[in-house]
Amino acid sequence: MRITIFGTGYVGLVTGACLADVGHDVLCMDVDADKIARLEQGEIPIFEPGLEGLVKENVAAGRLRFTTDPAAAVAFATLQFIAVGTPPDEDGSADLQYVLAVAETIGRHMADDKVIVDKSTVPVGTADRVRERVAAMLESRGEALAFDVCSNPEFLKEGAAINDFTHGARIVVGTDSERVKRLMRECYAPYIRQQEKLMFMDVRSAELTKYAANAMLATKISFMNEIANLAERLGADVEQVRLGIGSDPRIGYQFIYPGCGYGGSCFPKDVQALARTAGQVGYRAELLTAVEAVNQRQKRSLYTKLEQAFDGELAGKTIALWGLAFKPDTDDMRDAPSRTLMEALWQAGATVRAYDPQAMKECRRLYGERDDLLLAGDRIQAVKGADALVICTEWKDFRAVDFDWLKAQLATPVVVDGRNLYDPALVRQAGLLYYAVGRGESL
Ligand code: NAD
Repeated sequence: MRITIFGTGYVGLVTGACLADVGHDVLCMDVDADKIARLEQGEIPIFEPGLEGLVKENVAAGRLRFTTDPAAAVAFATLQFIAVGTPPDEDGSADLQYVLAVAETIGRHMADDKVIVDKSTVPVGTADRVRERVAAMLESRGEALAFDVCSNPEFLKEGAAINDFTHGARIVVGTDSERVKRLMRECYAPYIRQQEKLMFMDVRSAELTKYAANAMLATKISFMNEIANLAERLGADVEQVRLGIGSDPRIGYQFIYPGCGYGGSCFPKDVQALARTAGQVGYRAELLTAVEAVNQRQKRSLYTKLEQAFDGELAGKTIALWGLAFKPDTDDMRDAPSRTLMEALWQAGATVRAYDPQAMKECRRLYGERDDLLLAGDRIQAVKGADALVICTEWKDFRAVDFDWLKAQLATPVVVDGRNLYDPALVRQAGLLYYAVGRGESL
């Protein structure tokens, strides 16, 4: 099949590369000319395990191409995927300007019938708005061409995006058109040979499914962080509580790790956007609001623990950070807990010396050159002579540490572990002050 994809970010590029890899003929369009130029030279603008090889192979095989030309992109295929960003607007609702701009592009250039597939995460009712925008464009051209709009939310997670796309638990398609169902089945046929994973539903339910999934996962995290904060104050160990509750199959072990809050491009904005949607239909989404509030507080907890360790005297201190990305195996720092911490430290007059296996470039791009931000070449350089070490991301590079060595590196023996990577007894044996998450005995 020929497939056009608008947007070559995490979702668009992974979708394009994966669909090309199973034999489809894919054209990816982006308005970012620099990005397209780099992609054409085989350079992948984001870090995502396995993506570079997959893109290169499929470009070489002639199945994956890139363009900035909107007319060529629209003309290329019947299936027109939208995978552009939907960042939060000032009030927390999803900003649909990029999605609607693509709708306008399609309406402006289409010369035959199209099926518009919305893969971006969009509020319930967006398919109708896309339909209206395309129709208005066609009307202004005096054309009456047929087209369909369906919802096909994406559930991949950064860091495991290719596996998630190719082996995801389900493929949700929101449509009431038999023709769209047939085309989408053909598109995804290579992924459903082993097991039927296609779930057809109405458009609104598909749009809501994506938000419900992310809100549920974010709720699990905030719930566990709430319990961790209680454990911390009650002298209990949340890691033991985690094992105790996860063993119940109704609860399960997945996604119940306490930590320093969720970040990334999806959970924060999707929880907020769903709460906004609720407000627009006159419903107060109390749980969603609480999930967000608990997360804000949790992201701040790394700083609070440092304040506690240094009696509020953080000015002039150098704090080492291990991990900047919002989670391992990505260079994405959008809404990362590390950012909340760094910004609070700078405000308090401290210097940050940070190391991340992938996100150093992104950190420099976000914050530029500044005296109070030092980027270390490796995890060792980051801690040498620092006043404290904070672990913000659970990269596997940080999991095994010689604590005697660490104690010798630090000017003051303070370790704040936002990911509960270590055995508190072992860390303390080395003479380090260890502040983990919800491990009651650490206070
Ligand atoms: P991104 O910011 O990484 O990429 C978006 C791309 O769209 C950019 O390259 C941008 O230049 C391009 N773009 C903007 N306007 C355009 C236009 N008019 N025509 C063509 N290209 C245009 O975004 P992303 O992380 O890939 O997310 C895309 C959507 O998928 C969002 O709605 C997001 O919520 C959703 N989503 C993201 C993830 C994830 O893990 N990142 C997972 C599931 C769903």
